[in-house]
This record gives sequence, C-alpha cells and structure tokens, in this order.
Amino acid sequence: MDVDDIDSIAVLGAGNMGHGIAEVAALSGYEVTLRDINEEFVQNGYDQIEWSLGKLAENDRISEEDADNALEQITPLVDMEAAVSDADFIIEAVPEQMEIKKDVYSEVQEHAPEHTILASNTSSLSITDLSEVTERPEQFCGMHFFNPPVRMQLVEVISGEHTAEETLSVTEQLADSFDKSPVRVRKDTPGFIVNRILVPLMNEACWIVSEDDATKEEVDSTVKFDLGLPMGAFELGDQVGNDVTYHVLEYMNDVLGEAYAPAPLLEEVVEEERYGKKSGEGFYDYKNGDGAQIPTDVGSSEIKHRLLAVMANEVGNLVGNEVAPVEDIDEAVMLGAGFPEGPGKLADETGLETLVETLDERLEQNGASRYEASDYLRDRAQEGGFYDEEADDDTVEYEMIRVEYPGEMVGQIVIDRPHRMNTINIELLDELGAAIDAFESDDDVRAILITGEGEKAFSAGADVQSMATSAEPLQAIELSRTGQQTYGKLESCSMPVVAGIDGYCLGGGMELSMCADMRIASERSELGQPELNLGLLPGWGGTQRLQHIVGEGRAKEIILTADRYDAETMADYGFLNDVVSNDELASEAFELAADLAAGPPIATQFVKKAMLRGWEDTDAGLEIEAQAFGHLIGTDDLMEGITAFMGDGDPEFEGK
Ligand code: NAD
Repeated sequence: MDVDDIDSIAVLGAGNMGHGIAEVAALSGYEVTLRDINEEFVQNGYDQIEWSLGKLAENDRISEEDADNALEQITPLVDMEAAVSDADFIIEAVPEQMEIKKDVYSEVQEHAPEHTILASNTSSLSITDLSEVTERPEQFCGMHFFNPPVRMQLVEVISGEHTAEETLSVTEQLADSFDKSPVRVRKDTPGFIVNRILVPLMNEACWIVSEDDATKEEVDSTVKFDLGLPMGAFELGDQVGNDVTYHVLEYMNDVLGEAYAPAPLLEEVVEEERYGKKSGEGFYDYKNGDGAQIPTDVGSSEIKHRLLAVMANEVGNLVGNEVAPVEDIDEAVMLGAGFPEGPGKLADETGLETLVETLDERLEQNGASRYEASDYLRDRAQEGGFYDEEADDDTVEYEMIRVEYPGEMVGQIVIDRPHRMNTINIELLDELGAAIDAFESDDDVRAILITGEGEKAFSAGADVQSMATSAEPLQAIELSRTGQQTYGKLESCSMPVVAGIDGYCLGGGMELSMCADMRIASERSELGQPELNLGLLPGWGGTQRLQHIVGEGRAKEIILTADRYDAETMADYGFLNDVVSNDELASEAFELAADLAAGPPIATQFVKKAMLRGWEDTDAGLEIEAQAFGHLIGTDDLMEGITAFMGDGDPEFEGK
C-alpha cells in the first residue's frame, strides 16, 4: 500500500485524543469517520472539533472556508461497521485498557477491508501484544500523537515485533501528510522515546524530595532555570497528570524491572488523588494555592547532575538497544516535550564522564539499581559523548572535495572530480556540509573560497547517475531537499563566501555559486540552468535564489530558456561581480576572499544575516539590522576600525 491510496481514515474513540486526531486528519483533506460507543460521546467529540476549528480560524491559522471544509470531512458514528468498512487506515484512541482495546480490534477485524492498516495511539501498552490480538500483525503499528494533536508536532511511529516495513513507512508518510514530524521507534519498548525520558526524570525528581536531598522548589528551579527545560519537573507532572505518569512508570517497572519503581512521593500524590491541574491539586495546589511558583535561583549543580545522569542513562538504553539513534531521540524530545535541546545534547554539554561518575557515586551511596550505568553509556563517555563531534570532524575523509588552507584566513573548498566535470552527488553534498562545519568551528578561517579542480568546470551540475538512482518521486524529493539544505548551510554560514568560477558553471553547479556572497569568473566560463531541457527544474534552490540576485525577469529568462550564457553577459545581468582573464582567475578569486576575510567578522556576519532574513521579510531584516547596530557599538572591532581610520592604517579585526 502507498500513502496515496489512503482516502478515508477511521478514528476510534472521540475522547481527548481521538477528536484531536480526527481534526488533524480532516484538516489534511482526508475523509474521516469518528466513532465512539454512544451518540453523546461521539457528538461531544464532534462539538469539540467544531470549537477547535473555529478557534483556529479566529486566530487566522486557517481560513473560515478551510474550517468548514474540514468539518464536512468528518462523519460522527456509533456503528462500528459503518465506521471502518471503507477505511484505508484506522487509528485507535480508546481508553488505555488492554481488554477494551482487544474488544475493539476483534470488532474492527470483522468489518475492515483487508488492505487497511491499524494503528494504536496507546501511550504505554505493548504494540506487539496489541498486534497479536489482530489477524494482521504485520499491518499493525503504534502511531503515538501528543496532546493536543492539533498543536503538537511529534508523532512517534512504533514498530511491533511483527510490523512490516511498508506499514511503518506508510504511517510515517501519513504523519508527514498531516504536517507532523514522525520519529520512528524501532523497537516496542515501554514509554517509547519521549515518555521513556520524561517519566524516569519525573520519578528521580520525586526520589530527590522523598529522600530529603532537596525541596520541590529547589528541584524545579534547577530543572527550569539551570537545565532550561520549559517547566519544572513537578510542574510538568501536574500538567501531564500524576496518575498518567504513575501508570506509565508502573508498566515500565513491570517490564523493565525495579529501576523504575515509583518513588514514595509519586505514590503518595496518586493515592491522595492529587493528579495535578486537572484535579485542582498535585505537587502544587491550584485550587487554594498559587499553583507552581518556582524561584529562579535555588537550583544546584548536584540536582542538575543527578537528573541529567538519569536522563543520559535512558538515552544510552534507547540507543544501545537500537530503539532509536541519538539524533532521533533528541528530535522527539524537543518536539514532544519542548526541550530547547535534546537530552543527548544536554548530557554531552555537561559531559558524559561527569554523569557516569554521578551515577557511580549514587550507586555506591544508595545502592538503587536505577543508578547502574549501562555499558553503552560508559562506552560513549569514553568516546567523548553521544555525538562525539570532535572525533567526527577528525575522521571526515574527503574524497569528492579537497579542503585547503591557502593562508590569509581563507579556507578553500575545491570540488575535486575533474574526470566528471566536477558534478555534484550526494556524497559530495555530505562532504561539503562537513567542510562548512569544520570551517565554521575553526577560528583561523574567516572566509570561504569555493573553486573547481581543473580548467573545464567549476561544476557542470548534478551527477546524472545519482539522479538516475532517484527515479522514485520520494527519493527525488529527498535528493532535492538534501541539496537545498547543504546549499542553505553555505548561504547562511557566518563568514563571507566567494565562488571562483572557471569553465562550466551549470545547473546544480550554478545553484551552488548562488549561495556565495560574491562570484568571480574567468572569461571562458559558461553559465546556465539547463534543467528545463531535461524536463526538470533547478532543484537545489535555483528557483528561489537566482531571482534575488538578478531579479525575477532575468531569473525566469535564464531558467525558462535553459540557455548557456557567457561570463560577460552574466556580469551584465549582475550575477557575476567580476570577470577576469583565464590565467588570473585563481589569484583574483583568492585575493577577493582574503580581502573579505580581513573584514570585521561580527559585522560581516550580521550583514549576511540581516540581508538573508530580509529576503523573506523586510521588517525582520530591519530588526536584525537595528539589533546588530546596537550590538556592534560595544565591540572591540569598532574601536579598532575607528582607530585605524583616524590613524590611516589598516585595521586588524579580531572578531571581539
Ligand atoms: P479518553 O478517555 O479521553 O477517550 C477515550 C474515548 O474512547 C472515550 O470517549 C470512550 O467513550 C471511547 N471508547 C471507549 N470504548 C470504545 C470503543 N469500544 N470504541 C470506540 N470508542 C470507545 O482517552 P484519551 O486521553 O483520548 O486516550 C485515548 C488513547 O490515547 C489511550 O490509549 C491513551 O493512552 C492515548 N494517549 C493519551 C494521551 C493524553 O494525553 N490523553 C496522549 C497520547 C496518547
């Protein structure tokens, strides 16, 4: 099955989550049947959708017409057969009880078409167990939305033991078509990703208070103001519902063992029915008190290390057990829990060695198994962190490009495939991205020069072979996005970039040169966007960037005629800043780059930023300009510039 085969979606359960999921699906143009067990419940869900769509329209997030259309897509129903018999995809969001879900699936089974995929929005039940009560376990997966689905970007797509790759891929594509960001959970593990990080974090916060090591305010102050998370741990617990946290933790405790035993404080609030905001009281009192009042300055590094250590251990468990790579975990937690940075990055910033030491010390003092650092975590600590960026930089081996340091604070990237006219493929894009990163983190590089090896071509475009392997539309979209992103990195990099063009500068090669701040070419150069001749279009930013450089009229001429232009003409069009003799190109391009490298780095960076942002939004660009003006007034570079100007010498800017 393909995502394009999905027209109709059934959502089972019109409660908190079900009505939100139905709204999201309807907003994306799908026909939706929304089913609950009686008229009242299903109508209630429908009314909430109507209210929510009205709010979106009122706040200009969608038009009135879109709101009306979305509502028309939804049919509220009680009859299961009518709800699922035409559905291509079914999302189940009934109460979190195995028995209820089992009953629902056996009924679904009777009426759903054979091709239909079944996805559960469960937060904590096993996807494998759920899939086994159906007769189509390979067409079953988890599709875990966050509350409220209309607003939350993340969808965890969870594989059970029997789930087919096709099921996961279609579900991810469906989430994409909902304008959500799917993150794959490759193994069915309690809490999936986000809850697996958050719930033990909240539990550890409770242990700290239960064991009298700190007060609730000290813990929340650390979490909110020292770790920079959007809420304190107790504040978050009250928001999520302490019964919900407890429930997920109990399940983890059952499956994963005593390291996940609930702390006494958590048990206490749940026993006393202090569930949080929804019950009026939780860790904080929202009914008779002032709710979560968190002081800004009573946090401590001990609490910070302890919480981070527990989180890092969970990240290690997930990566070590191949549930997800650290990048995906970080993305999921940022999108699903609003962390400013993912837990992997946060742990790396403090240092995994420090955190492993914290775990070892706690284990020695207290003996609790939740402080047992996994082997994987210890390995990563030795390697320097989850991300291990320095090692990565050192180990990048460039095969498609050369990275050189010709002096005068210029970093040079030479596209080094002269036998293939310096054409650009995916590997080259990766290397280009790595080289830009390496220059960005190198204080001795203040300008980038890009050239092509040999006299024939700067770059004759995208490597046709790599295009041919992308004959599938989805792969081609991905190829276009990858190029756009890498080129975007060059365009937005903090230092000036010069393209030194000698020979052919065509298609993807010309698009690369569009990301430079200045372009200088030899007389023999030929430039153009030949894509339309192949029935394609410039796919690496050309449709956007060229018009900013030469104006819409010339850009359309260049793209639509697909003609080749000589260097002089392109200079007249304003694309090239200079044309020089063939022999002089190399030295002139270097001198231009060296000249820009000698400029004031901070001011240069702000000029680039303000101009780039101003393309989309002049007001935003002007605001950056004003803020930058204020910032520059306080820099040493300004003093250096003024002193040199008065004394008639050359300034030596330090970027301070
Ligand atoms: P809810 O209690 O608000 O809604 C469940 C709905 O399902 C109710 O309206 C109920 O009448 C209905 N229902 C019961 N039996 C049914 C059946 N046989 N057929 C159709 N509908 C039936 O619960 P919720 O918060 O929406 O949670 C639903 C699922 O989503 C659970 O699995 C939960 O773990 C998961 N989830 C909840 C959240 C959250 O924050 N609430 C977040 C993510 C996932």
